Amino acid sequence: MEDNKAQNFDVIVVGAGPCGAAAAITAARAGAKVLLIERSSYVGAKNMIGGAVFLTALKELFPDDWESAPIERYINKHTWSLLSDNSSVEISCNFPDEFKSASIFRSKFDSWLVEKAKEEGVYFAPSTLVKNLIIREDRVCGVKTELEEIYASVVILADGVNSLLARNIGLRDEHDPKDMVLSVKETLKLPKEVIEERFNIKKGSKNGAAVNFLGGLSLKDAPFALGFMYTYSDCISFGLGVNLEDLAQMGLNPSDLLEKLKEHPVVAPLIEGGELLEYSAHLIPEGGYNKLPKLCKDGVMVAGDAAGFVNGVHFEGTNFAIISGIYAAQSALYALKIKDYSEKTLKLYEKKLKHSFILKDLKSYRNVMENLYFRANSLMNYYPKKASSFFKIFTGANCIPKREEFRNFIFHFIKDRSLKELLCDIKAFLSAVFGVLK
Ligand SMILES: Cc1cc2nc3c(=O)[nH]c(=O)nc-3n(C[C@H](O)[C@H](O)[C@H](O)COP(=O)(O)OP(=O)(O)OC[C@H]3O[C@@H](n4cnc5c(N)ncnc54)[C@H](O)[C@@H]3O)c2cc1C
Repeated sequence: MEDNKAQNFDVIVVGAGPCGAAAAITAARAGAKVLLIERSSYVGAKNMIGGAVFLTALKELFPDDWESAPIERYINKHTWSLLSDNSSVEISCNFPDEFKSASIFRSKFDSWLVEKAKEEGVYFAPSTLVKNLIIREDRVCGVKTELEEIYASVVILADGVNSLLARNIGLRDEHDPKDMVLSVKETLKLPKEVIEERFNIKKGSKNGAAVNFLGGLSLKDAPFALGFMYTYSDCISFGLGVNLEDLAQMGLNPSDLLEKLKEHPVVAPLIEGGELLEYSAHLIPEGGYNKLPKLCKDGVMVAGDAAGFVNGVHFEGTNFAIISGIYAAQSALYALKIKDYSEKTLKLYEKKLKHSFILKDLKSYRNVMENLYFRANSLMNYYPKKASSFFKIFTGANCIPKREEFRNFIFHFIKDRSLKELLCDIKAFLSAVFGVLK
């Protein structure tokens, strides 16, 4: 453990991802004695993002200094690409002067956060695995590492998606595979100029682009699989996430699906010549509001991915992690102030979450994934192909009257889809955009 002689702390935070770092920084800034424990020797090395960090949350944590974060590119151009077997229909939006999210490398970003935490006086213990929590008279009062027992008034669990610790003390059940997405990602090196040209980014700027892919897997029965691509300074990430239960039931492998997507004639030119720098895989908790754990108990709170705070459709996770970490720390500070570490006091954390966008959004989007999985074949196969046929007619000149071609198009659409199916598809689409329809 670095710089740490004493064994008693006000707050112990387990996990030095964005959530844990935000919690540790917030508590230490207010004068608490904080220990941040991380199992990896190189912070962030195994952590994963697609991906872009949402800057509003970062600015909340560092109002004056967020720009010193190791930002690769501001992601201000977003494209949704509906892939049929050999074509695409794309919807794109570009806000070249807006800086709402940024691509980052987790290894650099998480290390930067830890350095910031140390500057605030946080004690940092890398290469330290928390094996269990210490419980006395039904209250969590510290952690057991491989070498020692360390005590604290409050423990914040920010140990990521698997959170064995939250499970061990009955805050959550084991994850159901149908609530988990397995994501695989490649990082591919490309010259800066090539990236700027391929993604139509202003030369020499720090602007960047993200592309989400739907469809294009040429499978008869396709799972709901979202492909993603993000630009960094001189590389791109390219990955795909698929529901764990679907993978098992359909006998699919996400790496094979990614390989398939790579060969798609619309995708291939975007990654052409890319030199593989890194391959990673990670789970994403997507059980959402319906699968939230118990958020606190005497002496302990759970936050970030460990609590399942992710909005899968909108690629939000880091912002939920940072803000929930801040709320957990603020609640710990209140408990320290009144010297009451009971669940009743720590419920302040739950209250803060309930009043914030985190639980409001998770509640709104509570059935989204279920709706999308239910209509996977429609969304992955039928509509991308249908959209492609529509634009083929719209942009083509086939010596056939347009009215006749469109009449044929509509006839097939009505024949293919029953009203019930159509309504289910509309519901899935609208719930992905707006959340649950009341
Ligand atoms: C492929 C992919 C793409 C994503 N894209 C985006 C995106 O574009 N935008 C976005 O906002 N979010 C995205 N996310 C989600 C985002 O990465 C997570 O929501 C966020 O990292 C959660 O932060 P966290 O601090 O809660 O957990 P983590 O980042 O997982 O950190 C947990 C930390 O705890 C440590 N730890 C675990 N157990 C122990 C233990 N027992 N003892 C000590 N240390 C321990 C781990 O080593 C780790 O460092 C993506 C996720 C994936 C997998």
